[in-house]
Amino acid sequence: MTTATLQATADHDLYEMAVTQWKQAAEAIDLEPWIQTILEQPKNELMVHFPVKMDNGEFRLFKGYRVQHNNILGPYKGGMRYHSAVKIDEVKALATWMTLKCALVELPLGGAKGGVKFDPALLSESELMRLTRRFTHALGDNIGPEYDIPAPDLGTNPQTMNWMMDTYMNASASNNRYKNRNIVTGKTLECGGSEGRYKATGQGIVFCIEAWAEDRNVDLPKCTFVVQGFGNVGSNAAKLLELHGARMLAVSDRYGAIHNSQGIRAAKLLRWVAQGRQLVDYPDADKIPEEELMSVKADILIPAALEEQIHSKNVDQLQFRLIAEGANGPTTLEADRVLQERGVDMIPDILCNAGGVIVSYFEWVQNRICESWEEKEVDAKLERKIKRAYRRTFELSGERNLSMRTAALACALKRIQAAYRQRQIFP
Ligand code: NAD
Repeated sequence: MTTATLQATADHDLYEMAVTQWKQAAEAIDLEPWIQTILEQPKNELMVHFPVKMDNGEFRLFKGYRVQHNNILGPYKGGMRYHSAVKIDEVKALATWMTLKCALVELPLGGAKGGVKFDPALLSESELMRLTRRFTHALGDNIGPEYDIPAPDLGTNPQTMNWMMDTYMNASASNNRYKNRNIVTGKTLECGGSEGRYKATGQGIVFCIEAWAEDRNVDLPKCTFVVQGFGNVGSNAAKLLELHGARMLAVSDRYGAIHNSQGIRAAKLLRWVAQGRQLVDYPDADKIPEEELMSVKADILIPAALEEQIHSKNVDQLQFRLIAEGANGPTTLEADRVLQERGVDMIPDILCNAGGVIVSYFEWVQNRICESWEEKEVDAKLERKIKRAYRRTFELSGERNLSMRTAALACALKRIQAAYRQRQIFP
């Protein structure tokens, strides 16, 4: 099976895109110049090379990154990505968005991101385990439960987090090991994960869509939607949106796209994929060329794969009322401008996909106080937090006539500015 070549048609370097986005918000709120100077570059950029013994006995050298953008609000926090296109400017952009996301949803956390450049689909389970352990070991004390706390992202999952945690714990003093369980979040329940974490990003997207539907008087059960990327974020968002009665018309993954104008049952498709079968072979839908996904007519698009997927070359084909950004940075600056001019509604990434880091924070807290909360409790806390952030963004957007993206970034920057003003710079 060949991998679809839906690589980004980059209108910009990704880091430049992230900085341009928040600078627009900084201008709107007159963010103090000295704070802008600090935010322009990450605090730390770590690159590591580490060897892994492959199943055939050969050794391969891998390149890994951890970028710590800012920690004025709390310990660095952000996902670990395994993907063949991982590179430093991408990780810097993702770390920057983490700083802003945590600030927007009022978590006592800063922003970081990391990753390893390779294709996880080409490694065996035991190779993935050895790679994850060596990467964690190579990061050493550059991560820590009170310093920098990784989580899953594209290409990583709860199993990856269990291996990271186990490696870190085994390198700690034996009488102190369990104190370090919150070195990562997004673990399985048995290894100290939180109820509701696996679906949290998808759940957060759906809470945001509910808030949008309420604001716009949209009848969600009558809505149709399209999802790009059917991994953790895309599949959970689709499954939960379906519970509202909305219908998924088309969906894709890295191998291709499928369409059915009557609707594709997300829960059923998930069972199909979970049995090790390919999404494109799903019998109750037709295969379509991957680039046609974006031109399917539906109410909502949930991009949940890679960045820069909505760009100047395909933006004119889009016929959605709402873009709910599950992925980080899926819309280029140029495409964003066109969508705004056309009056397409947008729930921007730092708001829309914040459910993951919110419940990661809950997991971190539960580990610290040795509690485990019920799913209902986690969901209720998540809903309150993300809908409050939605409302603040929506109100600022209306008051100041800002796009939802600029308003979300402005809310985040205001919080960061307040902390800097109160703490000042050491010494
Ligand atoms: P995942 O690895 O679980 O799933 C990614 C999905 O995207 C897979 O179905 C994969 O086949 C598909 N994909 C990859 N390349 C594609 C392409 N070119 N075209 C179409 N589909 C493609 O990853 P995930 O955790 O679901 O993350 C998806 C996005 O959401 C990323 O941008 C990530 O940064 C963002 N995100 C994830 C979380 C989280 O909690 N996992 C939180 C916030 C944001």
